Amino acid sequence: MIKAKIDPDKCIGCGTCVSMCPEMFEMTGNKASVIKDGDSVACDIDDIIDNCPVEAIFKEE
Ligand code: SF4
Repeated sequence: MIKAKIDPDKCIGCGTCVSMCPEMFEMTGNKASVIKDGDSVACDIDDIIDNCPVEAIFKEE
């Protein structure tokens, strides 16, 4: 199982991950949070990780 995680201390709330994959991420206040694991959505987690401007997203397998 691949699960995305977000470091809330790094996230600046830009919303990129949410717009790229609203099935997996949502905004909680001014930070993004993960709402589903990567196996249940069709999003490319590596692509989203590459697009986070502060490298706040990582994955656990
Ligand atoms: S792309 Fe990165 S900085 Fe932007 S909301 Fe998502 S986790 Fe936060």
